[in-house]
Amino acid sequence: MKFTPDVTALHPAVVAYRRHFHQHPELSLQEHETARFIEKELHKLKLKTKRLAGTGVVSVIRSGKPGPTIMLRADMDALPVTEENTHSYRSRYKGRMHACGHDSHMAMLLGMAKLLTTHRVARGKVKLCFQPGEEGEDGAGKMVAAGVLEKPDVDFAFGMHVWAPLRTGKIAVISGPAMAAVDEFEVRLIGKGGHAAYPHSATDPVLASAAIIENLQSIVSRNVAPWEAAVVTVASVEAGTAFNIIPPVATMKGTVRTFEKPVRRLVERRLKTIVRQSAKAMGCRAEIDFIPKLPATVNDKKMSEFVRGIAGEIVGPRGVADIKPTMGGEDFSRYCEKVPAVFAFVGAQNERKGAVYPHHHPRFEIDEDALMIGMELAWRVTQSYLRNY
Ligand SMILES: [Zn+2]
Ligand SMILES: [Zn+2]
Repeated sequence: MKFTPDVTALHPAVVAYRRHFHQHPELSLQEHETARFIEKELHKLKLKTKRLAGTGVVSVIRSGKPGPTIMLRADMDALPVTEENTHSYRSRYKGRMHACGHDSHMAMLLGMAKLLTTHRVARGKVKLCFQPGEEGEDGAGKMVAAGVLEKPDVDFAFGMHVWAPLRTGKIAVISGPAMAAVDEFEVRLIGKGGHAAYPHSATDPVLASAAIIENLQSIVSRNVAPWEAAVVTVASVEAGTAFNIIPPVATMKGTVRTFEKPVRRLVERRLKTIVRQSAKAMGCRAEIDFIPKLPATVNDKKMSEFVRGIAGEIVGPRGVADIKPTMGGEDFSRYCEKVPAVFAFVGAQNERKGAVYPHHHPRFEIDEDALMIGMELAWRVTQSYLRNY
């Protein structure tokens, strides 16, 4: 692996940042101390900062020469998880943990701020974007609405995720759709309650929910083309209070994941039809809330090639992992919707260091060597982009 000496020199500082954030996790849209810490560190570098969307922090580094603007994004929030790791820098708070790795993303971006203030870039500008509320709160959408992509206008957005399924030393850049569009649905099935021993005088929404769950499975198997990807999951079903009562209402909640817009529209349409008609067949009425949450994260094809080329220079051609897109969602998609953007996965799994648990797990841990690889990638992407585009 090839590292720039200045990146190697910064590694201990970036590890220290990461451990600081790890000890002080804050939940989505409540990243107050995190934001203040970031501001303090950026002010030490004589950088001006601006608040957006409450706890978001933005800073622009200008070369003084005309050129494009690249935005580097780090998400800031932790998860409502109680950490089960026992290392010295574990979370100091019960029920809060950086179990997704956003601590690493912020640490690397602060490292980039240090690099960018000591080494001038060739031309153009670098916008540092510390974004709150990635975990289900669409913080990216809030930052976009607050104008993060303007003044100066962003020409290219780059983001990274430390990635537990990938070994340290590997980098993956998926061209095109990389992470899925996320939709949520809630269904209320209204029947007629009654005595469980006299079902003929009731209308049973529990039976209707069973029919609906089964019929929904035909969307992926019979409506979506075999070469497209989609997930329909009913994740929560609630009804009833006792063994001898037919309840009047049953509720179901679930999620839809897709990559392509036409598939997304198809699944929504079929889901609504199946729920309504199946409920009707069982004598119930269905109220459906279909809530679009996030678009798919679609990496710009040309820029993905550019980033993959740079990844290859760092980890070698065999280090560039060829992985499949994931059905997980990521609000980085909000930037992809507006400007050419690339979201890269930086391998951080290392069995020897106990970094083997999946994201969001109470024992989630990363191999901190990945921080150096991520920094090197961000540094080279930034420099090369500003030199060549
Ligand atoms: Zn997460
Ligand atoms: Zn994450």
